[in-house]
Amino acid sequence: MDLNEYQGKQLFKQFGIPVSDGRLAHTPAEARAAAEEIGGQVVVKAQVLTGGRGKAGGVKLAEDPDDAEQKAKDILGLDINGHVVEKLWIEKASDIAKEYYLSITFDRGAKKPLFMFTTQGGVEIEEVAENNPDALVRLHVDALEGYQPWVARRLVYGAGVEDPSEQKQISAIIGQLYRCFVECDAMLTEINPLIVTPDGEVKALDSKFTVDDSALYRHPDIAEFRDAGAADPLEALAREKGVTYVKLDGSVGILGNGAGLSMSTVDVVVVAGGKPANFCDLGGGGNAQGVVDALEVITKDEQVKSIFFNIFGGITRCDEVARGILEALERLQLTVPIVVRLDGTNAEEGRKILAEAAAANLYVEPTMLDAATRAVELAA
Ligand code: GDP
Ligand code: MN
Repeated sequence: MDLNEYQGKQLFKQFGIPVSDGRLAHTPAEARAAAEEIGGQVVVKAQVLTGGRGKAGGVKLAEDPDDAEQKAKDILGLDINGHVVEKLWIEKASDIAKEYYLSITFDRGAKKPLFMFTTQGGVEIEEVAENNPDALVRLHVDALEGYQPWVARRLVYGAGVEDPSEQKQISAIIGQLYRCFVECDAMLTEINPLIVTPDGEVKALDSKFTVDDSALYRHPDIAEFRDAGAADPLEALAREKGVTYVKLDGSVGILGNGAGLSMSTVDVVVVAGGKPANFCDLGGGGNAQGVVDALEVITKDEQVKSIFFNIFGGITRCDEVARGILEALERLQLTVPIVVRLDGTNAEEGRKILAEAAAANLYVEPTMLDAATRAVELAA
């Protein structure tokens, strides 16, 4: 789960990382009130789950409460990479002398957390990695050894930070960010920019924060951060039903059992000249209720013109799946064409059950490619 900047900063603050004082606002009037409370110059920042807000006009300085209200009007409703701005974070403006970059990601290849630090912050980190790779210091932390103070020294000296006060402050932040990363079960914590003010004070001006979904049960307070409004309603319904579902932008609904088969199903639909509307994995069990739940989610998407239901029965029994399909047809009053390919355990029985039901919108095909071709035709 990705957190908004203000939520990530709230966690940073809990772990001792310095951030600016700020308030949340949903309307221009609230932005004005926030600016009045904070006093002086403020920054008005779009709270959307995407990067590059600054470039897109979603981060603006405001001189006074009047100006904050005006800037809020400009930014609210803005579409930033497909995310419409509904919330603003108003914070005390900082003077910036230098912009650094600090992050921890989980490096799956190395199976270790990976620190990245550079004094070339403020810009996209990919740009630094490409144009100035020597400026980017990378360092893994061994999980058994744990975090040691030398990690911070290696990063700070490696990146060429020379000022002793900066070295000390940044080292502290590096240790705090590591604790924050581990204790929040994060997959990513990023500070870009980590600024130095003209007075030599170091603080986090931005936050990017991703928490491992599978660990959210341990963090009820973080789980509450989820934007009910911002999430795709179909993905929210899927989560509620325990269905693995990813929305795509085509017209052929995809349902498979197992992530591997579901991905192959997406591929074979593309090979057949179609465009998948989603990825949906029934999982290994595939009981009738699971089928009903998955079909309910998929058919809520108006872009779905046909459904390709691809099952390979191992543990999953094809007759059980067939019964689930019929149950879903009846309970959900489905009219969208459903193309079914059943293979593996009890496939014969499954096909027989479907044939006997003789539903007008049900098509049974013998192979994956035949089924994909048919589903693509029906979606056209
Ligand atoms: P992003 O574009 O989504 O990464 O949003 P950031 O929070 O990083 O803000 C973008 C840029 O706005 C930063 O790199 C800063 O240059 C600028 N900015 C943000 N906050 C302040 C501030 O308090 N004072 C000043 N002078 N600039 C700021
Ligand atoms: Mn940033």
